[in-house]
Amino acid sequence: MNDVVTMEPGAQLAADTMVVKQYLDQAVRTSPLDPAEQASYKKRIKELLTEKNARIVAHYYTDSLIQDLAEETGGFVGDSLEMARFGTKSDADIIVVAGVRFMGESAKILSAEKTVLMPTLEATCSLDIACPIDEFSAFCDQHADRTVVVYANTSAAVKARSDWVVTSSIALDVVEHLMEQGKKILWAPDKHLGGYIQKSTGADMLIWDAACIVHEEFKSRGLLDMRKLYPDAAILAHPESPNDVLEIADVIGSTTQIINAAKNLPNEEFIVATDKGIFHRLQQVAPQKKFIIAPTAGNDATCRSCAHCPWMGMNSLQSLCDSLEMESNQIEVDSELAKQAMIPLQRMLDFAAENKLKTSGKA
Ligand code: SF4
Repeated sequence: MNDVVTMEPGAQLAADTMVVKQYLDQAVRTSPLDPAEQASYKKRIKELLTEKNARIVAHYYTDSLIQDLAEETGGFVGDSLEMARFGTKSDADIIVVAGVRFMGESAKILSAEKTVLMPTLEATCSLDIACPIDEFSAFCDQHADRTVVVYANTSAAVKARSDWVVTSSIALDVVEHLMEQGKKILWAPDKHLGGYIQKSTGADMLIWDAACIVHEEFKSRGLLDMRKLYPDAAILAHPESPNDVLEIADVIGSTTQIINAAKNLPNEEFIVATDKGIFHRLQQVAPQKKFIIAPTAGNDATCRSCAHCPWMGMNSLQSLCDSLEMESNQIEVDSELAKQAMIPLQRMLDFAAENKLKTSGKA
């Protein structure tokens, strides 16, 4: 039987929205730099990277200045897991993770011997916030018959409590694999991604109630209106978007799959339902094509910066430079916790290698 159950529909998300708002109210805002300041910070960061044998790994959703700087200096731009894996392959002593907190933690878990810095430790994720370890662990205990599958956008503690960690592009394959073994699944934390996987696979899934505040804002009504304006455009959507958005999307995929679709599809125009930080890479891979941001709610309480993650936006040249200069904002993960979290992370990497799948996903 295909059984989909959500925990206390709506109630958990409403509570988490309040927590997210509190975080955003405390968030430090950065002011834009003029070209001379940008050049000055870039110069100093390059000097520090060389002096300290450090590299920047940046997420696709961060500022294009940071993405370009990472690539120019031998670092890396990618999704969360690719970022973490870069650390394991690099001979750098210091990895500066420009992204959000769980990405720094994953990098540290996979490269315990390296120093991992972040421009700010305030940069978190609504999915991580909405899945606190105590409540999650109690939920797992209540459903001990289920295999616990968590998305990469979780704390080290939640990963350590899980059986599998997955990214958005490997999640379907892992769930199908578990279904073949007759497993029932407890999925956390993103309810839209969980719902999409359940619908696609028919798996028996118990789904935690949390969402990404960026993707949650995309609306099908606005998309349908936009499609009238751009009838030849393909709609590309990340599976963290609500189901009614996914139903009208032409391609549903992880960050990397969206980039590949933009490159490979014959369309000249695309409406893109994911963080607008990705437009920098989309324009690089298909400079002749037109990319349009999918419409969002606009005035919702948590929508401080629609189609752009406010926490990703906290990564600036200034904060990156300061962190590197002072070696501040170091990520530490308790060694026992890291050992536990490594098990489901490694399980995913091994599965991907055996099945020759890409483990690329988004934030
Ligand atoms: S874009 Fe969404 S999923 Fe990614 S870090 Fe921001 S809140 Fe989390």
